[in-house]
Amino acid sequence: MPTGPAMTTRGPRNLLRQIREAMAGAAPAQERLDGVVRIIARSMVAEVCSIYLRRASGELELFATEGLNREAVHNTRLRPGEGLVGEVARLAQPISLSDAPTHPSFSYRPETGEDPYHAFLGAPLLRGGRAIGVLVVQNRAERRYDEDEVEDIQTIAMVLAETVASGELLAQEELRDIEVAPHRPERIKGQKFGDGLAFGHVVLHEAPLPPERLLAENQQVEEIRLREALNRLKSDVDHMLEGGLGNLAGPSFEVLETYRMFADDRGWNRSLEEAVRNGLTAEAAVDRVRNEHRARFAQARDPYIKERLHDFEDLANRLLRILAGDKPGERDLPDDAILVARNLGPADLLEYPRHKLKGLLLEEGSAASHAAIVARALQIPCVGRLQGLRDRLSEGDLVIADGETGEAHLRPRPDMLQAVRSRMEVRDQRRAEFIRLRDVPAVTLDGTRVTLLTNAGLAVDLENLNETGAEGIGLFRTEFQFMVSDELPRLDVQTALYRLVLDAAGDRPVTFRTLDVGGDKVLPYLDQGEREENPALGRRAIRLGLDRPALLRMQLRALLAAGSGRELRVMFPMIATVDEFRAAREMVDEECAWARRRGRTLPAVLRVGAMVECPSLLWHLDALLPLTDFISVGTNDLLQYMFAADRTNPMVSDRYDPLSPPALRALAEIQRKCVDTGTPVSVCGELAGRPLEAFALLTLGFHRLSAPAGGVGPVKRMVLSADLTAARRAMPGLLGSSAGSVRNEIESLARKLNVAL
Ligand code: PEP
Ligand code: MG
Repeated sequence: MPTGPAMTTRGPRNLLRQIREAMAGAAPAQERLDGVVRIIARSMVAEVCSIYLRRASGELELFATEGLNREAVHNTRLRPGEGLVGEVARLAQPISLSDAPTHPSFSYRPETGEDPYHAFLGAPLLRGGRAIGVLVVQNRAERRYDEDEVEDIQTIAMVLAETVASGELLAQEELRDIEVAPHRPERIKGQKFGDGLAFGHVVLHEAPLPPERLLAENQQVEEIRLREALNRLKSDVDHMLEGGLGNLAGPSFEVLETYRMFADDRGWNRSLEEAVRNGLTAEAAVDRVRNEHRARFAQARDPYIKERLHDFEDLANRLLRILAGDKPGERDLPDDAILVARNLGPADLLEYPRHKLKGLLLEEGSAASHAAIVARALQIPCVGRLQGLRDRLSEGDLVIADGETGEAHLRPRPDMLQAVRSRMEVRDQRRAEFIRLRDVPAVTLDGTRVTLLTNAGLAVDLENLNETGAEGIGLFRTEFQFMVSDELPRLDVQTALYRLVLDAAGDRPVTFRTLDVGGDKVLPYLDQGEREENPALGRRAIRLGLDRPALLRMQLRALLAAGSGRELRVMFPMIATVDEFRAAREMVDEECAWARRRGRTLPAVLRVGAMVECPSLLWHLDALLPLTDFISVGTNDLLQYMFAADRTNPMVSDRYDPLSPPALRALAEIQRKCVDTGTPVSVCGELAGRPLEAFALLTLGFHRLSAPAGGVGPVKRMVLSADLTAARRAMPGLLGSSAGSVRNEIESLARKLNVAL
């Protein structure tokens, strides 16, 4: 009786290399697969070794065997879940049995001639979170495969899975009907996060490992790399728990605790070490163990388990990033990249080269998150909450990101692609129409002059300024510069950007908002001190600026320097009390005095404003407005705080309608108080960029709107077609309504008045 795990003495590294060589050879695919099973059988001292691959129908087809009847190859097909092989795929876990035929799941297929074999060891071929096949070894004698052998077969299965999926082993023709990688056209319905339409090739944010990075050249080196990366991961997590690194808006305490639990988990550490000892590179080891977890928990319905799986994946991704040490920007991307991720921070998105990025598809996320705002600033379509997206796509697949309908089309048929091309042409024509309107003043039919500004924060927005014909920048989000930087931008770097912006704007006004970090905007290099349970209600924006005056002072100094001799407009985010505004304004005065003492030229005109984003101000506008030179209403935050619905949390972010009596009444109140005190007011939340919502704002009496670049044209078209006198007559009824939403009523009103929406 063959006893022993021959591989533990020789180690599977040689075997892996032989397998890779056999796979990469020039012989026809079947011959190479036959060679592979022969090598595995010999090395594992098994009488049988077989590879099953999943067909599109879900059946597992015998693709190659050493030991079973050759005639069964491509003839034996097991229904999903059938037999032990089906069970391995279903559970996405290895199964080891000393006497397989007595197991209730055993399914006898006479054509295979497998009756004499008792011992059975099967492992799933995992790709992402899916089993794409099964690798089996069998022995005549009743024997138990030991732990090392189970570990070894999983490592071999991983290498096989990656090699098959990479298309190295089977030609594209042969892969056509095999569920190695999903290949049929599919449509997934999600939510619209950013308007637009694009098609291109999938770039997975969590990049797959190329097959040549699977096997270690030098095992010791990989062991050291893994150990060092794990140590770094643990110290990062500890540091975050202590309140350092990234916790301005990083993972919550609960998530960090879970991270620590996983990072310290002996099982995880041991699996990684064993995979490396078996001949994988450190990255391949992380990938292998991650795939196993993903596949195992894929069917879990319990939201708690799903969340923990996400945490685990995030941790594995962190470890991969530590190992790779590179940035997405350094990856070789196609020119028509559609980025695919589970979720993404705005800083992650900004690391990708702008000109190559054509669209963004997310499995989760929310429309009000800053990643979605950045996508809109980049004017690329963004669709979120696309369930199961990553498991249904492979790197390089063709995909359509439809931000108009909130859908993703995976591997579209040519007719679908053609339809999208036609729609893109229509969009281009509309865009041309907006460009024609660029220099037409925004005046409503009843003669109300509207000022249309744009929101900005990136250098690319400056191009948009000219293209859209916006009359200035109503909100410049200064934190974007901080978010794309690896370190705190120095004074001269900040000054240079602000100068560039003012130069690009020329005579057009620019309103700079001081640093607004916190919430979902993370600056990994900034040590905020205390850990926060609830960052959206935490030390965000001006609160941080006042607590860390050196940070705010430096920014004000840079702004004053850039605005020297011209008009400078500065506003403070997240003001919740008048005292905060007083303190911030005092800092501006002190910085002016400092510059004056040094003989510097101050701005010719300096205006200091507040963002109205905290509901508390609604009851203290009479005190606030006289202190300000202008205000800007940040509806994204104002509404999240009014409705107590975290804008980044998809479970609650769209539970209310901004076109509802409470929201409209609050806005009407702000507008009225501004008229009473003669305070200039604008609205700069995302609402201002949507024609119907902007129509409601104009009807309420707002005349100054700052919209994302893509919204300026559509809103101007709406303005030119609107008669506000007629619309205003309906407003008291809408504000007084007892309905939760008056969207339909406002839309019917707009349509009745022939407003171009
Ligand atoms: C807002 O809150 O409406 C706003 C414009 O600021 P931000 O979206 O950057 O928080
Ligand atoms: Mg805000």
